Amino acid sequence: MDSDKIQILGLFCPLCGGDTELIWKDNLIARRCKKCGVIFCPSSKETTSIYDESYFERWYIKSRFKRKRYIRKLIEKIGKAWPLQPGNLLDIGCGVGIFLEIMKENGWKISGTEVSPYACRYCEKKEFDVVCCQLEEAGFLSSYFDLITAFDVIAHLYKPQNYLREIYRILKKDGLLIIKTPHHPAFLFRFANIFRFTRKSKSLLHIPAQIFHFAPCSIKKFLSMNGFDILSTIRVNDIPAFFISFSLKSMFIFLEQLFLRIISGSDSLIVIARKKFPIKEEIKV
Ligand SMILES: [Zn+2]
Repeated sequence: MDSDKIQILGLFCPLCGGDTELIWKDNLIARRCKKCGVIFCPSSKETTSIYDESYFERWYIKSRFKRKRYIRKLIEKIGKAWPLQPGNLLDIGCGVGIFLEIMKENGWKISGTEVSPYACRYCEKKEFDVVCCQLEEAGFLSSYFDLITAFDVIAHLYKPQNYLREIYRILKKDGLLIIKTPHHPAFLFRFANIFRFTRKSKSLLHIPAQIFHFAPCSIKKFLSMNGFDILSTIRVNDIPAFFISFSLKSMFIFLEQLFLRIISGSDSLIVIARKKFPIKEEIKV
């Protein structure tokens, strides 16, 4: 059976091959790997069509100054956990380039990948070096980047392991990878099960947009299985949704954020990892 069919059935973990158990059920399901702990939604598919002009206008462009302030604080937190020296940076899923802009001001040589044609055109106007495609299609040079970042990307990918393989290839020896992803531990799903009659548990769990759900332990395992040493894990909270766009929807998202903070301790995780060198299978690259 090919790996796509195995992932859709969800009987085995798409990341490590371990046995899985049903952990949450609505009209969709989520399964948890008994070996690495990752939680995934077997029938969810990667979607890029929502990332259009109105999405970026509403959630990023109108609030770019607030976003910049928030990202500067994140960079400060990361710098305290692991000092960063400017070099070649790639931001995967760079959106309209707010993070890239700050890192350029900080002396980094910036590049980005982005699947939204609208966001790519926006970055082009700023003369940022952004490629409009999936990471594997960008064809970057091997061992080129000092730092690769992926903020709120990895959980939305159908095959995040393919991304990690490519990240490993294009990072320099001792290069750093910084991933930010929602913090969704197993007990959040068990809790959501109790409230599924409200029909709101899906949106609390970001399903179906989010395919993979990580907690500190599972994200660390996933990175170390793919050739990375974990340097630091930081728990952070996202910028409050109503602070970005004031509407009923954003108030509802904010309540979800608050709930997640109470249940999980923080709504997001940042992991700083370093490329292990060498690992056998990568010597041929
Ligand atoms: Zn697993």
